[in-house]
Amino acid sequence: MRTAVVVGAGIGGLAAAGALARSGWKVTLLERDDRLRPGRAALVLWPNGVRALRALGLAAGLDGISTPVPPAGIRRPDGSWLVPPAALATTGDLGSPPVVVHREDLHDAFIAGLGDQVDVRGGIAVQSARVRRDRPAVGDGRVMFEADLIVAADGPDSAIRRRLAPATTFASAGFAAWRAVIPWYRVPELPAGLPAHGELLGFGQRFAYASLGERGSAGGSTRGGISWVATVPGALRPEPPAGQLALLRRWFAGWHEPVTQLLETTEAEDLVQEPVGELTPLPDTFGPVAGAGGYALVGDAAHAMPHHLAQGASLALEDVATLQTVLAGGAVPAALQEYNRLRRPRILRVLQQSRKAAAVLQSRGRIAASIARVHPRTLERAAAAATEWGGPTG
Ligand SMILES: Cc1cc2nc3c(=O)[nH]c(=O)nc-3n(C[C@H](O)[C@H](O)[C@H](O)COP(=O)(O)OP(=O)(O)OC[C@H]3O[C@@H](n4cnc5c(N)ncnc54)[C@H](O)[C@@H]3O)c2cc1C
Repeated sequence: MRTAVVVGAGIGGLAAAGALARSGWKVTLLERDDRLRPGRAALVLWPNGVRALRALGLAAGLDGISTPVPPAGIRRPDGSWLVPPAALATTGDLGSPPVVVHREDLHDAFIAGLGDQVDVRGGIAVQSARVRRDRPAVGDGRVMFEADLIVAADGPDSAIRRRLAPATTFASAGFAAWRAVIPWYRVPELPAGLPAHGELLGFGQRFAYASLGERGSAGGSTRGGISWVATVPGALRPEPPAGQLALLRRWFAGWHEPVTQLLETTEAEDLVQEPVGELTPLPDTFGPVAGAGGYALVGDAAHAMPHHLAQGASLALEDVATLQTVLAGGAVPAALQEYNRLRRPRILRVLQQSRKAAAVLQSRGRIAASIARVHPRTLERAAAAATEWGGPTG
C-alpha cells in the first residue's frame, strides 16, 4: 500500500488527507495544534473551488451550508456608488455566483471526508524535511515520518517549503487584514434596503461583508451569522484583540452602514488578524521529487497570495483534485512532475489577475476611484478569469 504523510490540517491538508485515503493510500495527518480546529471566519468559494470539491466527491452537502453572493457593486465610505451593480456583468461570465460558507461547516464536511482510515496526530510541529535521501521524510525534532509522498499543506509559513525552496519567502503587501463572523444570535438588524452582502472601498481601506443567513436557513447544519473582512494599510498590530477592535472602529468610524454597525457588534473574540502578502519567487516546482517518491506543495504553502480575489481556498482544492488525479496515473515522481506542469501556469494566471485586482483595491484612494470609473469591469474580469479552471487535468 502506498503511504503518504500530510502536514497541516487546514483546508488543503484535510482535503488531501481525505482524497488520498479514499484512493487507497495509508495516510498520516500531522498538525501543529493539539486538535483539528476549523479556522475561524468564513470563506467565499468560487465556481472553480466548487468544481474542485465536486471532483473530490465533497460537494454533496454544499448547497445546505452555503449562501450565494452574486455581484453587489462597490460603494465609497459615504455610501455612494464607486461601481454600481448595474456596471458589473451578471454572473454570466462565471456560470454561477460564488458562495460564502462558514469555515466550521466546511471543516465538518472535510472531517467526515477523512473516514476512519487516516491516522491523525495533533501537537506535531514539523521543522525539517529530508531532501537528499531516497525516501522523503519530515521531522519535528523528535520523530522522523517517512512516506512515499509527503504533502506540504502547512500554510504560508511552511517549514517544509522553507527547506525545499529556501529562496521563496512570504513578502508582505503592506496591508493587514481582519476577519470575523458575528454569530447569528448577535447579528444586528441591518437598515432596510441594504443588500445582504457588499463591499466598500476607501483610501487604501476596504471592508466587505456577507450574510451567512439565519441559523439553519441555508440548510441543516449552517451556523448562520454575518462574515466580514477589513483590509487596512500597515503592519500586523501587536495589541491584544480588544485593542485591535478599538483601532478598527476608529479607522472605519463614519463609514456607511453596515460597517460601523457590524464593527460595534463584533466582539474581540470574533476577530482573526492575518498578514496580507504573497510568496516570492514562487517555488521552482510544486512537486519536488525525492528518490522513488517526493513532496507535493499545496495551498498557501505553495502559492500564498493576497486575498483580493478570495481564491486561496479554491486554489488549494484545485491543487488537491489535480494531485489525486495525477497520482491515480502511476508512479509518484512522474505524477509530481505532471502536478507541477498542470498547476504552475494556472497559478501564474491567477497571480496575474490578483495583481490587477490589487491595482484597484490596494491603491490608496483616487487611483482606485479613477480605475474603477474607467474600467468598471476590471474586478469582474479579474474574478472571471481567475475562476476559469479546466479541471484536474488542465
Ligand atoms: C483576510 C483573508 C481573507 C481570505 N478570504 C478568502 C476567501 O474568502 N476565499 C478563499 O478561498 N480564500 C480566502 N483567503 C485565503 C485562504 O484563507 C487561504 O488561502 C487558505 O485558508 C489556505 O489553506 P491552506 O490549507 O493552504 O493553509 P492554512 O489554512 O494556513 O492551513 C495550514 C495548516 O497547517 C498547520 N501547520 C502550520 N505549520 C505547521 C507545521 N510546521 N507542522 C504541522 N502543522 C503546521 C496550521 O496549524 C494549519 O492547520 C483569505 C485570506 C485572508 C488572509
